Amino acid sequence: MAEVIYNRVALIGLGLIAGSMSLAMRRAGVAGEITGYARSQATRDTAREINLVDRVCDTAVEAVEGADLVVLAVPVGAMGPVMQEIEATLKPGAVVTDVGSVKASVLEAVMPHIPEGVEFVGTHPMAGTEHSGPRSGFAELFDNRWCLVVPPEGADERAVKRLESFWAALGANTERMDPEHHDTVCAVVSHVPHLIAYTMVGVADDLRRVTDQEVIKFSAAGFRDFTRIAASDPTMWRDVFLTNKDAALEILGRFTEELFALQRAIRTGDGDHLHDYFTRTRAIRRGII
Ligand code: NAD
Repeated sequence: MAEVIYNRVALIGLGLIAGSMSLAMRRAGVAGEITGYARSQATRDTAREINLVDRVCDTAVEAVEGADLVVLAVPVGAMGPVMQEIEATLKPGAVVTDVGSVKASVLEAVMPHIPEGVEFVGTHPMAGTEHSGPRSGFAELFDNRWCLVVPPEGADERAVKRLESFWAALGANTERMDPEHHDTVCAVVSHVPHLIAYTMVGVADDLRRVTDQEVIKFSAAGFRDFTRIAASDPTMWRDVFLTNKDAALEILGRFTEELFALQRAIRTGDGDHLHDYFTRTRAIRRGII
């Protein structure tokens, strides 16, 4: 059995990420007791039924009582309100982390509620699936995936290092980043691709000349692969775009410019432009395993 890193871990939110963390913590033996809370009664009932954590609590306050590590695993827009609810109950010496997909706005929302003697360090496991909810987690989710660690200025180095070793025990490789850079990187590699996948499904739905049946029947030709992530949770993604506005709009602007250039090349029959573009981008894509 590996060494226990935190005696008590509280998970707030019991969906894909928190569920996977609980299962990965048990696999690694790095937590003494794991408590959990989710806002919906149905989620708490399911978590109890499948024994997702050691103790499911009916309030966030009860879950964080005596916790050494508190993990905020709720949609990004709920991080501030949750912190406000639990701040008075956090024990001195506790570490709070979040797993949100956006960092600058989470820091802004959370930091005013971090009491003296409690540390906050943001993290973002770059791992996920299009599934959500308490039944969607699995212990291997973080294996060999990146977990970006985003400490606020002046964070306690020992607390940051301990959290890094915790994520390493869950299977992830860690790298530190500042919040603004994190948000730009994630807009490119995750946020805007999700937006485009959602859009592609919307376009298919709008086309009256292509029936729903045809989309389902013939979707092997690109559509299915390309739009898998459009089955992701709408609340999570609404919050990502509302809280990572600047980086998302910047990347979306660049994407639109490229798309217009390709549109012009198609209209004018500029095969060289299309061929050069596809050759360059294929080489980049082939470099990504
Ligand atoms: P999920 O929908 O599977 O789970 C979210 C959980 O939060 C649910 O249990 C829900 O009941 C609970 N919840 C929602 N609002 C709440 C509130 N106000 N108080 C208490 N509980 C509340 O979502 P997930 O995929 O586990 O995402 C959780 C966080 O992780 C999000 O911030 C998301 O941005 C981030 N994240 C997601 C992925 C991914 O691919 N899904 C990857 C990395 C990070």
